[in-house]
Amino acid sequence: MSPEQLKEKIRIIMDFPKKGISFKDITTLLKDGEAFKAAIKGLAELVKEKDFDLIAGPEARGFIIGAPLAFELGKGFIPARKKGKLPGETIKAEYKLEYGTDILEMHKDAILEGQKVLVVDDLLATGGTIFTTIELVEKLGGKVVGVAFLIELTELNGRENLKGYDVFSLIQY
Ligand code: 5GP
Repeated sequence: MSPEQLKEKIRIIMDFPKKGISFKDITTLLKDGEAFKAAIKGLAELVKEKDFDLIAGPEARGFIIGAPLAFELGKGFIPARKKGKLPGETIKAEYKLEYGTDILEMHKDAILEGQKVLVVDDLLATGGTIFTTIELVEKLGGKVVGVAFLIELTELNGRENLKGYDVFSLIQY
């Protein structure tokens, strides 16, 4: 299934969660087994030249894409979770969305100094969420070797906020 065919599986919902936002709903892609598999395989193909030890992804859709990608590539997965969810000692960073803010946390011992990390989320809008995940990885001494998304909203210039990082996306709007 090509990226164009995968795009057809994504449902657009207007005015969610706020008026004026055209929300890319990936649940319609995820419920299609063939499409879900093709999306993960497509992402795996995009990052195949990258050498890394771990994948890190932000709650919640970063888990849905990041964890199967890690499984597919035989890598470990590190969740960046919303405030108060992780049981061990954590570090924190502010989480910025296209709409609103929150806090993301990562376990202090999730990444060892110098480990190479690919950071993954479902969608790149302004880049705030992924930048916060990158911040957590780097605070722990991890080296971000790339940043990968299922979807990139190119008009929001998230790539500009990720200057200096290798950015990959399978589907663009
Ligand atoms: P950013 O932080 O880059 O502005 O926004 C991206 C984050 O918000 C991602 O974690 C993503 O899950 C969520 N997000 C923002 N807009 C959309 C959208 O249209 N569809 C989906 N699936 N997620 C979105």
